[in-house]
Amino acid sequence: MILITDILSLTLDELTQVLLNMGEKKFRALQIYEWLHKKRATSFDDMTNLSSALRKKLAQECFIGSLKVVRKLESQSDNTVKFLYELSDGNHVETVLMQYEHGDSLCVSTQVGCKMGCRFCASTIAGFKRSLEPSEILLQLYEAERSTGRKVSSIVLMGIGEPLDNYDNVIKFLNILSSENGTNMSLRHVSLSTCGLVDRIYDLAKLDLGLTLSISLHATNDVKRSELMPINNRYNISELMKACYDYFSATGRRISFEYALIDGENDSLEDAKALASLVKRMPSHINIIPVNKIKERSFTSNRRSAQRFCKMLCDLGVNATVRRTLGADIDAACGQLRREYEI
Ligand code: SAH
Repeated sequence: MILITDILSLTLDELTQVLLNMGEKKFRALQIYEWLHKKRATSFDDMTNLSSALRKKLAQECFIGSLKVVRKLESQSDNTVKFLYELSDGNHVETVLMQYEHGDSLCVSTQVGCKMGCRFCASTIAGFKRSLEPSEILLQLYEAERSTGRKVSSIVLMGIGEPLDNYDNVIKFLNILSSENGTNMSLRHVSLSTCGLVDRIYDLAKLDLGLTLSISLHATNDVKRSELMPINNRYNISELMKACYDYFSATGRRISFEYALIDGENDSLEDAKALASLVKRMPSHINIIPVNKIKERSFTSNRRSAQRFCKMLCDLGVNATVRRTLGADIDAACGQLRREYEI
């Protein structure tokens, strides 16, 4: 069987190796890489500074992936755009473009479905299909920019999937995203959200990429967190907080904590006090999110409770804000669109 190379998934070093193996000069790799990631070429025929023989050879040995937009929902109230993309094997992922004062931010998916089993999350209910290739994560950005004409200035890895469960491909994606010969996005403008795969947090800290680590905490004691998030049975809160501290020590970056507020589950003054004492060891920020209703569960919350809980935290000296709700009219909470489409 001849293996055809997914050229958009290659880092510049890997592409250089492929070109050298073809008997080509090194600078050709840089030319091709710029066509792909700077000029966003979708066909080898576009690469007019390459000989037609080389273009033909590339087309035989490699392919340039693409995503099909099967739905594009545009919010009337706040310029949020939600995409449902179809991958080449017929699977689907979601991507959300959001407008903030400081620029446009894109929330990308890293897997089709998710293994983590968080009780309140729509992405995990139908289980896990597969991890995305680096190209499939990048293409969510390329296609969103192409289809809207907007320029994305920051990325959050907070869509469908657990980014640290697709570690190698996510690291490659970040390498290509930040390459000065490609999109050239500073990783200071990237946040990676995890439910808490502790071993991988230590690995990430060693790379010191400059990105913001965002931890989905959601509960302050192990009994409650294990009920909501099965990953807590593997890595408990104390192990998770130790890893966060290590990440902060190694990178100097403050840690962001996500806290989905659920009525009667994690919204008491005791919870606020426990949360304050957990995060006080390191510079941190807490993002409070009123839990998004999903049809399979009865969890509820609202902005009023979130603001009340936020005030409790602020009174305790914690740096906390309530996450803005964007795209409410287009159901922007992740995982919901894909589920509706596939069922
Ligand atoms: N797997 C990663 C990233 C994807 S989920 C993680 O767990 O962090 C992105 C964020 O949305 C996480 O903080 C997740 O816990 C949260 N989330 C999932 N479902 C939600 C819901 N119904 N309401 C509010 N937040 C939710």
